[in-house]
Amino acid sequence: MNLICFMTCGLLCSCRQYNGIVCFTFDDFGGDNWVKADEIFKKYDAHATFLVCGELTPKHIEVMQKLQASGHTVGLHTVSHANATAEVQVFTPESYFMQEVKPQLDICRQNNIDVRAFAYPNNRHNAEFDQYFFQYFDYLRAGVGPVRKPVFIDRKDIHKKMVLPGTGIGKYYKSDLNELKKILDEAARTNTMTVFFSHDIYPDAPGVAMPTEYLVELLKHARKLNMHIAGAKELD
Ligand SMILES: [Zn+2]
Repeated sequence: MNLICFMTCGLLCSCRQYNGIVCFTFDDFGGDNWVKADEIFKKYDAHATFLVCGELTPKHIEVMQKLQASGHTVGLHTVSHANATAEVQVFTPESYFMQEVKPQLDICRQNNIDVRAFAYPNNRHNAEFDQYFFQYFDYLRAGVGPVRKPVFIDRKDIHKKMVLPGTGIGKYYKSDLNELKKILDEAARTNTMTVFFSHDIYPDAPGVAMPTEYLVELLKHARKLNMHIAGAKELD
């Protein structure tokens, strides 16, 4: 506990000095599987970011509200999973926002869901879209790019209105648990931030989803390293 922290929070201060930050982000919609995974996050004093795709139904809202109530960050991932950018460009940032994002955002606002983050479908984006989307979101999740090397972000470079470059986790991405643990080791050692993305969460999950076993192992490892396992809104 430092002096400012002590003066602000008093003796009950729960501020901690962590070794690095890891952000787990989940795209599309895992429904009850995401809610179920909350038990695991709680066990490791961890929060994540859940970025929802689809026309928002009462079920989507229920899940988002439950995750938000547990301290996770909730965000959006478009109505139809259309790419923002393409070789033959279909959308302007504004037309994309109006068609793919505003309908979701309006429903969230009507339901008191605090949306702070957005994930680009298939991680497709450019600086023009980023600039436009920062009007509405503090954090934009994209990928690490074609090189597929994990990115480590210095703490001084973490701020609102930033793009979070995620490394994909899942069998589709040929994830290796030991390699993923090494990424956590490096972030903890250098006191930097690294970002992961996946989708649904369930045991032995195939494809682009997060096998529950991986999630447990990674959270356990990050906790052992005393990392901050943070949702996007905790980066402020
Ligand atoms: Zn997606």
